[in-house]
Formats: sequence, structure tokens, C-alpha cells
Amino acid sequence: MGIFDIGIIGGGPAGYSSALYYASQGKTVVIFEKDELGGTCLNRGCIPTKAFLHIADKYSELNTLSKFGINFSDVALDYSKIKEYKENVVAKLRKGLELTLKNSGITIVKAEANIIAENKIKTSDDEYVCDKIIIATGSKPKEIKGLEYDHKFIISSDDILNLETLPKSILIVGSGAIGIEWARILSSLGVEVSITELADRLLPLADWEVSKRIERQFKMKKIKTYRSTYVEKIENKVITLSNGEIITPETVLVAVGREPITIKNSYNNIDIIGDASAEIMLAHYAVSQAKELALNIPFDKKFVPSVVYGNPEISWIGQVSKSKEDDENYKVSVFPISALGKAHCDNSIDGFIKILAKDNFIIGASIISPEASALIQQIAIAMTNNLSVNDLKKVCYAHPTYSEGILETLLKL
Ligand SMILES: Cc1cc2nc3c(=O)[nH]c(=O)nc-3n(C[C@H](O)[C@H](O)[C@H](O)COP(=O)(O)OP(=O)(O)OC[C@H]3O[C@@H](n4cnc5c(N)ncnc54)[C@H](O)[C@@H]3O)c2cc1C
Repeated sequence: MGIFDIGIIGGGPAGYSSALYYASQGKTVVIFEKDELGGTCLNRGCIPTKAFLHIADKYSELNTLSKFGINFSDVALDYSKIKEYKENVVAKLRKGLELTLKNSGITIVKAEANIIAENKIKTSDDEYVCDKIIIATGSKPKEIKGLEYDHKFIISSDDILNLETLPKSILIVGSGAIGIEWARILSSLGVEVSITELADRLLPLADWEVSKRIERQFKMKKIKTYRSTYVEKIENKVITLSNGEIITPETVLVAVGREPITIKNSYNNIDIIGDASAEIMLAHYAVSQAKELALNIPFDKKFVPSVVYGNPEISWIGQVSKSKEDDENYKVSVFPISALGKAHCDNSIDGFIKILAKDNFIIGASIISPEASALIQQIAIAMTNNLSVNDLKKVCYAHPTYSEGILETLLKL
């Protein structure tokens, strides 16, 4: 039997971050992981998808290079190499994580854990007494009726990482961040992509103008989009959509969200963090919860950035405008990135920065642009620290950068 200050169940971002933060405070920590350290984020989520995206972007860029006088022939795509790259990235990071945990004096137990008393965790081999227990068991892909995973024809975001070859065509069900990112990856790699969304616009949690722009970009990429549409039935791999259309993709990726993994716990002094808390299912939200819990550094849950990766990146924070009419409720400034020198140098002019303000303070921002994931952080810092629009206008923005677009957007407020 082991005795520890802190026992953490789950080795994803919520679990490993809290383990490291508690260890930095001199606490003795044990972390239980039944599968792979790094959780969904490192093994099946953020990291593998971004590794695929990196290559997909490189591949699709090839089509534009003749414009710059770079001519070549005989381009061939070796999917097994792409997978190998993704697996190497994941393995390298996982090894680094394990080493960091060990070097911080954290005990790693590779086993499924359960809570059997207020201060007691049990695995199949042993029991552990912990002053404080944290549940960080994460989440799994949601399944919907009629689209149950058979892991061959109807697949989840876990399954898609393990395909041996790329399908010729795919239907993606759901246009949240995961659906949009996979649509971008697969379309760039030459797969014929269709996407269905129950709402009347793609990426329905984003600003309405962001949705419109993605719909336009998808049209240009020949990604077929079905809005206000759902899969009515599937018979022998023949799909009937609710609009009556019949399609026959080689594979169906269901990306309709995730559900928390809960473990039996009837004690109220046990904290649940990360996806398991069923709040915002993002890795940085999980890390912020861990930081708040272990280091007592609070964060404002209203200012959590969302990022959708791919070319160009999409990000937003705070309030989003749901429609053109909704825009009337705020002071709105929209700046096209095509007005930026840097965007022209990079041959990437399709995007905009939109800021919503009230009483000289930013209440929300949405960005489609290269580096949108980094740009949104400037807004996050401003909003978290109550910096006004006028405060931000005083900042000197480097040239040529996409950040200049933030200044230009602010100047129109
Ligand atoms: C395709 C995809 C792309 C994503 N991209 C992004 C992104 O770009 N940015 C972002 O912020 N988020 C992204 N996410 C979401 C992100 O992965 C999750 O929000 C994050 O992993 C949550 O961390 P967590 O620690 O709460 O849970 P998880 O990462 O799910 O980790 C939980 C761990 O607990 C373990 N576990 C569960 N039960 C037990 C038990 N009883 N005993 C022992 N171990 C147990 C599991 O095996 C798992 O390893 C993505 C998700 C997916 C699926």
C-alpha cells in the first residue's frame, strides 16, 4: 500500500498538469493511467491531428508553388510515412512527459484505478491512501442513434487516426472543431469530403461571419456541405440524408462531440477536472483548472479561447455575434487581412479580424488568419486584465505582422 498527499486518476492534460503543479509545491503525488500517458490530447486529439494537418498543409501548398516559379513533377503521397511522422511526434512527446513526471518525483501507476473510500484508490494489484483525490478521467467520442460506431464504415475521431490507407471519399457528421479540422486535412490530402451539420451554419459556435467564410472556403475546396441536415438512414453503406439526397461515401466520420468519462464517486471532497468535469472540453481549459486547483491561480471562465486549426487558422474568444442582426447589439469592427502586407507576402489573404466592443472594452473577438491561434492570445490577455480599447491602441505593433491587423481593427472602434 502506498501513502501519498495527492492521488490523481487520469494521465491527460488535466491529470499530468495537476500532478506537476502539486509536485512543484512539495506534495507527494501518484498518478494512475490505464492507457497511455498524455490522454486524449497527446494520443488521439490535439497533437496527432495537428501533426496530420502540418503535412496536409504542406501537400496542398505544392499546388500553389508554380506561381512562385517553383516547378516540379512526380509528386507522390505516401500515407504510411504521414502516419509514421504522426506516431513519432506522439511517441517523442509521450516519452518527454513520462520523464518530466518521473524527474518531478511523481509516482506513475499504469493501471485502471477506482475510488473505494474517501481517501483510498484501488487498482487490481494494490491500494493507495491519498489525502486528496482528483478525478481527471477525460472523455470519449459521443455516439448517436443510427450512427453507432462499427469502427470500419462508421468511425470515430479515435479510429480515423489508425486507418491504413486514406479513403477515396468520406462523410463527416458534425462541423465542430474536430469535424472542420478533419475536413481540412482530408480534403488537402485529396479525399473527396462531404460534411453534414444539423445547425443552419458550419461551426455553429463561432461568429456568423466566420461560418460564412468557412462555407465559402469549403466551396472553393470542393468540400460539399449540407446544413440543417442529418443522416436519416444508412442501409448497406448507402446513406439517405434528411434532405432526400442519397450519398455513398467510403467512410463516415462521426464528430458530434464528446461525453465525459465518470468513475463511481459519492464523496464531495473529491475534485473533478478536465473533460470529466463536463464543462469546456479543451486541453487548455483542463490545464487552467489544474492550475487553479493546485496552484490557487484563478482564471476567468468567460475568456477561454477556441481555436480551429488548418489553413487559415480560426479563433475566437468571449462574445460571438450569432447573426447580422445580432451585430447591432455591439460596436463592431471588421478588418480584412488582405489589407496587410504580411498576408500578401505569405500569399494568404483570405481572412479577417472582427472585434466586438461595448463601452470602450472588448467583449469578444473572432479571427480567421494565419497565426490566429497566437493573435487571439493578445485579446485574451487584454480581456483578462481589463485593458480597454484605448489602452491597446497605445501598443506599438511590429511590421510586417498579422498583429497589425489587431491595431487596425481597434482603430475603427
Ligand atoms: C480529435 C481531437 C482534437 C482535439 N484538438 C484539441 C485542440 O486542438 N486543442 C484543445 O485544447 N483541445 C483539443 N481536443 C480536446 C482535448 O483533447 C481534451 O480537452 C483534453 O484531452 C482533456 O484532457 P483531460 O486530461 O481532461 O482528459 P484526457 O486527455 O481524455 O485524459 C484522461 C485520461 O484518463 C485515463 N483514464 C480514464 N479513466 C481511468 C481510470 N479509471 N483509471 C486510470 N486512468 C483512467 C484515460 O485513459 C485518459 O488517458 C481535441 C480532442 C480530439 C478528440
